[in-house]
Amino acid sequence: MNADLHCHSTASDGLLAPRDVVARAAANGVELLSLTDHDDTSGLDEARAEASAHGVRFVDGVEVSVTWRGATVHIVGLRIDPRAAPLREGLEAIRQGRATRARKIADGLAAAGISGSLEGAQRYAENPELLSRAHFARFLVEAGRAPDVKSVFQRFLVKDRPGHVPHQWASLQDAVGWIRGSGGVAVVAHPGRYKYERPEMRAFFSEFRDCGGAGIEVVTGSHTPEQYHEYAKSAREFGFLASRGSDYHGKGESRVDLGKLPPLPEDLKPVWHDW
Ligand code: AMP
Ligand code: MN
Ligand code: MN
Ligand code: MN
Repeated sequence: MNADLHCHSTASDGLLAPRDVVARAAANGVELLSLTDHDDTSGLDEARAEASAHGVRFVDGVEVSVTWRGATVHIVGLRIDPRAAPLREGLEAIRQGRATRARKIADGLAAAGISGSLEGAQRYAENPELLSRAHFARFLVEAGRAPDVKSVFQRFLVKDRPGHVPHQWASLQDAVGWIRGSGGVAVVAHPGRYKYERPEMRAFFSEFRDCGGAGIEVVTGSHTPEQYHEYAKSAREFGFLASRGSDYHGKGESRVDLGKLPPLPEDLKPVWHDW
């Protein structure tokens, strides 16, 4: 089964419209797809309709921003119901926090001599409710401050650099609760990206499982092949379902294209096993 259960559209910080993400996935041979925009579900109707036209199985998804022990983690919700009120209201609150953070990011950049970044970032954001650091990064490339988005994140918008703003996202318990309450399955996105020490990572997995989390991404565009093995082990140890997703954002901003990752290790139970 060629499943890709993590990707982004212009409803958050992807470069392609929802329908174009789906068409690209279909052309790449994806058989089961989820669109998982950051903190927003407004692309799902368009994506679902396009998937149906291409004969691709589609599940509604979202990637929720969470703060756990002072650091940001992402929890993907799959097979959610985007109409469920607690999920909708929770995501709405996160988006409002993003708007406040965006003004602070712009203030920080202005203090470093870079003016007009809020308006600049907004020009790259098709969804005015969803401002991501990726939109600021695209503006900074345009303004000649870095050659590409990846280098922006070495010079700006991260700890101890201009435009960094500490931010409090949702709690782990709330995020998992909203996802499960809407009928969805909660999955830890790209665990290899988090900077926790090993014991803390284990504490995180335990707490995630205790509050109803069911799976982790094992094969993702954010992991090295060594990390596929490492997190396959975590899935076995904690009894997690395994997920696979490219985290595609668009040409030039993603290492892996839609549907182009290797398969999950065979002994793991895929998150879609009973769908
Ligand atoms: P935010 O959720 O607004 O803090 O923005 C995070 C987004 O910025 C991620 O989802 C990526 O799209 C992008 N991003 C973060 N770090 C990097 C990086 N090192 N290279 C490229 N994009 C990045
Ligand atoms: Mn992103
Ligand atoms: Mn993420
Ligand atoms: Mn993502």
